[in-house]
Amino acid sequence: MLKNIFISIFFLLTTTLAQVKVVTTTTVIYDLVKNVGGDKVEVDYLSRGDQDVHFLEVLPSYMMKLREADIFFQIGLQLEMWAPQLVDGSRNSSLKIVYLSDAITPKEVPTTKVDASQGDVHPQGNPHYWLDPYNAKSMAEVIYLELALSSPENDSYFKKNLDAYIKKLDNKIIEWEGKMSKLKQKEIIFFHSSWIYFADRFGIKIAGYVEPKPGIPPTPSHNAEIIQLIKKKNIKLIVTEVFYSDSAPNQIASMTEAKVLKVPTQVYGLENIKSYIEMMDYIVKQITNHG
Ligand SMILES: [Zn+2]
Repeated sequence: MLKNIFISIFFLLTTTLAQVKVVTTTTVIYDLVKNVGGDKVEVDYLSRGDQDVHFLEVLPSYMMKLREADIFFQIGLQLEMWAPQLVDGSRNSSLKIVYLSDAITPKEVPTTKVDASQGDVHPQGNPHYWLDPYNAKSMAEVIYLELALSSPENDSYFKKNLDAYIKKLDNKIIEWEGKMSKLKQKEIIFFHSSWIYFADRFGIKIAGYVEPKPGIPPTPSHNAEIIQLIKKKNIKLIVTEVFYSDSAPNQIASMTEAKVLKVPTQVYGLENIKSYIEMMDYIVKQITNHG
């Protein structure tokens, strides 16, 4: 009896030790890691789904999360300008940092050097590539490769999970493309320039942004330009993310016929959005219902 208990504890300990410890910057990456890693990974995230990942406050508790981690997955393209400070503070010399942006083709890469003093938060190109589900597949593949490198004994387990998840995503992509097809070439105003990958994938057009530049708050003169644009082109929708102030979009909407839609662009951006697929379902549903 006692021997059996010892054996059980031994197995419990070794399986716990065999887990890959992962930290992600965003909840979308967190969800992909959970899908591929299953119970062979222990994963945590830093930026909550209802926070603006561009401007995360550097907290000692985040450094603690990174202290014991094996892999730190980031979006890259300088979305997480706060991350290097956390890595330094973690004093974890064996931490492997993986930029998932290496797996995708970046859009809107500046051809001239962007002056950071102007406040533009996309100096290396547009980092919001996860809103194209084809890119989510590429992200999941890199996550698989990294988990398999870190824990080769679980390679076939991770591969099986990856294949199942890609199949699920492929079916969803067909559904999303079908629903979005009725909005082909439709012009929409967005708050922040998070949407180029989504728009290109699903064939909608970005008429303009409420922010004068990525990360620069709305101004009265730019709002006036957007109001003119909406009236001229008879635009019906202003789409913004849940964590942005909706005062400028609401003001613009009150002067036009356009409606403001607030959507999550991260998992847990709204309480009932618990996965990447649920998040994309929600965005597609909202935009097609009101577009
Ligand atoms: Zn951005």
